[in-house]
Amino acid sequence: MPEPYWPKKKGSYTLADAAKVSRYAKLRCRFCKTERYYLVEELKVAFGNVECDDVPYRNNWRCTSCGNRNMIDLTIVNPSAADLQKIKLRRIDRILYIRRVIWRDE
Ligand SMILES: [Zn+2]
Repeated sequence: MPEPYWPKKKGSYTLADAAKVSRYAKLRCRFCKTERYYLVEELKVAFGNVECDDVPYRNNWRCTSCGNRNMIDLTIVNPSAADLQKIKLRRIDRILYIRRVIWRDE
């Protein structure tokens, strides 16, 4: 099993702090127990250097297995070499920038 890492003092622990400890973040759904692994570096690309606790709440992150929102926990993990063989990483495929025009009446 990967060793979970979490600092004693919560509150200002950002993705950049996490990246110093490990490359991997585990997101686990409290409802259906689905686990997915992400690269901390890529979470930073997607969300900026936010606090680790905030990551699952950005974009109203929804579990792709059961569809529940706000049921995701993020843990920074340091998987062993053996565990890394079994882990399936979820990587950034592409980032879409949406340009949207809002009209107003004068
Ligand atoms: Zn779920």
